[in-house]
Amino acid sequence: MNTTCIFCRIGKREIPCDIVYEDKETLAFLDIKPHAKGHTVVIPKVHAETLFDLPNEKINAFFLGIKRTMERIQKALQPDGFNVGWNQNQAAGQVVPHLHMHIFPRYRGDGGGSMHSIISNPGTMSVTEVAALFK
Ligand code: AMP
Ligand code: ZN
Repeated sequence: MNTTCIFCRIGKREIPCDIVYEDKETLAFLDIKPHAKGHTVVIPKVHAETLFDLPNEKINAFFLGIKRTMERIQKALQPDGFNVGWNQNQAAGQVVPHLHMHIFPRYRGDGGGSMHSIISNPGTMSVTEVAALFK
């Protein structure tokens, strides 16, 4: 636990939140500034700033918590779909330095975009040139 981390404190239930789902390792609660009805954040209770910092043995429990949270939202709010993802590091918009998955329930005609609307700036390298960097 990181005593100065707001999401660690929420995970320890020192700061109140509106719980959507909870198990031993995971807590899901409503975002205080929702971008969609039922916008929820899911955190591992252990402090990890990004996915890279979450130990591999914690990944399964975290992902299962995400699935269970989505099932709860589906049952309670009957959305027509979801966007699910996280902001990793400041460059990608991360504000709270404790890994959290955003779950955006989506409703037909809600006016939102897809993941593709987050960024549209592929740079000057061709896909072939980028692919070569992985070889
Ligand atoms: P991010 O930009 O990915 O770091 O998102 C942080 C999210 O946490 C934002 O959507 C905030 O509205 C949300 N948030 C911050 N503090 C709280 C809180 N005390 N309870 C619920 N959500 C919070
Ligand atoms: Zn933390």
